[in-house]
Parts: sequence; structure tokens; C-alpha cells
Amino acid sequence: MADSEKPCCSFCGVEKSLSVPLIAGNQGRICEACVNLAHQVVSSWGARRKSQQLAPQLRTPMAYKQLLDESVIGQESAKETLAVAVYNHYLRLLNSDREPACRLGEQVELEKANILMAGPSGTGKTLLVRTLARTLGVPFATADATTLTQAGYVGDDVDSIIARLLDAASGDVHLAQWGIVYIDEVDKLARRGSGGTAVRDISGEGVQQALLKMIEGSEVRIAKTGRRNEHGEEQVVDTRNILFIAGGAFAGLEELIGSRLQPLASDIGFLAAPRPVQPGINELLAALLPDDLHGFGLIPEFIGRFPVITFLQELDHATLLRILSEPRNALVKQYQQLFAYQGVTLEVTPAALDFIASQALQRKTGARGLRAALEAALQPTMFSMPSQPGVRRCTLTLVEDAAGERLEVLRSLDETAPPVSGERPPLPAAPRMTLDL
Ligand code: ADP
Repeated sequence: MADSEKPCCSFCGVEKSLSVPLIAGNQGRICEACVNLAHQVVSSWGARRKSQQLAPQLRTPMAYKQLLDESVIGQESAKETLAVAVYNHYLRLLNSDREPACRLGEQVELEKANILMAGPSGTGKTLLVRTLARTLGVPFATADATTLTQAGYVGDDVDSIIARLLDAASGDVHLAQWGIVYIDEVDKLARRGSGGTAVRDISGEGVQQALLKMIEGSEVRIAKTGRRNEHGEEQVVDTRNILFIAGGAFAGLEELIGSRLQPLASDIGFLAAPRPVQPGINELLAALLPDDLHGFGLIPEFIGRFPVITFLQELDHATLLRILSEPRNALVKQYQQLFAYQGVTLEVTPAALDFIASQALQRKTGARGLRAALEAALQPTMFSMPSQPGVRRCTLTLVEDAAGERLEVLRSLDETAPPVSGERPPLPAAPRMTLDL
């Protein structure tokens, strides 16, 4: 081969030699030095790139609400509250180092508005936060308050939440500092008075105390992970700008709100005024005030860190029915996709959907009961169908016989159709990259 034709790095032009191997791609080659340089350049994009990435994604609260509508059914009030709170939070961050367009006399410093969501289990609290984080493109971490302990006790200490967020940001501290943390089951940290059924008492209060500083804004030191960290290097994450969202079922909270709204009538006997109609759980939760959370057993300092409070409604039959098939990622659509992978069309009759929603309502686990009911109904079919290649259509329907109502899958076979292949479709070819030694 002539010298001029010797392969060389397409970036710096260095020629290939025994000591300089080149990596060959479809269009050119690259040497080790250029790979390292490229890595350094990409890593240094850091801060500017992150705010530039986020800035164009900031949409209006109405747009956030519309995006939430695609995934979360109902919960209108919570969706609106979250959309506004998240919009304001990132508006503040994006403008934190910018002169305001119109000055309000003295420089006004905007405080962070963390959010607390109260509402029964399985009503969409986690879904709401997860969907928002995905829409914004910021890292997101969840933590279960019941697994947290004060520093020095056995269990996850509160800093582990930030370590998880840093993981979600692939170790990028700046990106993690724009993130969202969802702390679930904060109601279990409450210290309940007499008659309460709290799982946690003093220790729960200790965790609330431990969370205070982090939620307000502190520097959390996280040991770098991986084999490379032989010198015990640490990353420091400033939590000042991290948006904290707390959620919990707060079982029994509605009774506290009810007693605040309607103190027990002391009149008895024939002359007593007739009792007004008892409001339902959804009306009571709509009247939620921070004082009620204090009455429930959260410490005032903790409640004070969550200036935005919202509630999620109990899901009724009509909403459960919509959740089955309306959201972008609806359960029925998921199973239809799973069946379609096997060349089978899945149909669910309206009567079957109605029955599944009723079953979920009875289970009292919110929308979680829907998956359980649907999975149970389809499980035998999902077991046998892959061995029956002639199946082309399955219909989940409601049948009624002497034993009562139950769900059944009717299969239609197509004998003439070619059998369904049990083989997976071939994966797309990976980009060609070889070590050109
Ligand atoms: P929790 O309120 O306990 O955090 P999740 O958000 O984890 O409940 O919801 C549990 C499951 O139910 C998820 O799979 C979610 O998709 C579904 N789900 C709950 N509420 C809704 C809702 N309002 N709209 C659509 N899906 C929902």
C-alpha cells in the first residue's frame, strides 16, 4: 500500500501505526487521543447545555395540563395545581441569574414551592409526578418514606434519595440539581394521637426532621460509585433547586377535615336541628388545610416546607372505566399490543370493561385493581395461546351462567392462515464499528 493511502484519523490526521490503532466507522476513522478529547468536550458541555435543554421545553401550565390529560384521567384540580407549581418552579430557575424584565423595587427572591399531594392509594399520585418529570425531561427519583430512617439508624438515610436522583441523572450533578424527587407515603411519618393507627411514631418524626434541611436546601455529599473511585471521591449536590413532591394516602384525614367543618352537634332530642347531609370524601379533601395535616400528625415545620397542597379524588366506577382504555398507555392498549406481537387481535367488550371496573372498585386499591382483574382474566389465554399458532382473534367478554357472572376469552381460529412464527423478528443491524488494527 502506498504511504499516501495509509489509513489515518479523520479528526487529527495521525497515521495508523502499531502504537496508534484506529477505530473505523462507516465514513472514517478515529484515534484514541481524539476519542478522549471528544469525551472531555462532551463532558464539559454540562451546565449551559442543561439549561439550554430545559429552556425550550418550558411550556405553559395549560400545555402541561394537556400533556397530563393524555396519561392521567380525572384529578383535574391536582393536574392544574401541579402544572402551575412546576411551571413557576422552572420559570424561577431559568430566570434566577437574569435581570427581571420589570423590576419590583427591591430585588425579590422567589421561594421554592414544594408540593404535597393527599389522596387514596392508586389514584395517580406517582403517575402524575412521573409524567411531569418525563414531559420536562428532568431526572426523577422516588423514595418511600417508610424505608427512610434518621442518620445512624438501620435503613436508608435521607441522603440516599439524592443518590438515586444523581443516578437518574447519570451522575451529572448539574442535571440532578434540576430534578424532581417524589417522596411517597409521607403520611406514615405522622405521629398520631390517641386512637391513631400510625405505623411510625417518634422515628417518623425523626425522619421528618431529617428531611427538613434537604427539602429547604442543603449540600448533600454522595460518594462516587464505580471501580474508578479508589480515592473516595465525592460529588456535592445542592438541593436548593430540587423540586420535592410529597404524597400520601392520609387515611382518615377526611374525618379530621369533617370535624373541623362540622363540629359535633351537641343538641340531642326532638328539638335538635336536623343533621346536614354528610359530604363525601372528595368534598372533604377539597377543603384540606395545612392545619388538618398538623392534626394528622405531621410536624408544622415539615408542612411548612410544602406551600402547595393538593388532593386526589377517590376513583369512581366511571373514571376507572375510562382509565382502562383512554390514557396513552392504557391497560387495554398494553395487552392489545402484547397480543399483537403474537399476531392476535384482542378485543374487550364493553360489558367486560364494565365488570373489570366494578371488580377494581370492590378491591379498594384504586386503579391498581384494574391490572389485577385484567391480568387474572387473560392469564390462562396468555399461557396457552403461544402454543396455538392458529389463534387470530381473542375477545374478552362477560358470560353469565348458574354460577354467576365471569369473564371469559373467546378465541377464533384461522386454519387457513399461516402459523404464527415462534421466532422473534430479527433485531435491526447495529452501526458498524470495528477496531482497525
Ligand atoms: P398512587 O396514587 O398510589 O401513587 P399510582 O400513580 O402509582 O398511584 O397508580 C397506580 C396505577 O394506576 C398506575 O399504573 C397508574 O397508571 C394507574 N392510575 C392510577 N390513577 C390513574 C388515573 N387517574 N389515570 C390513569 N391511570 C391511573
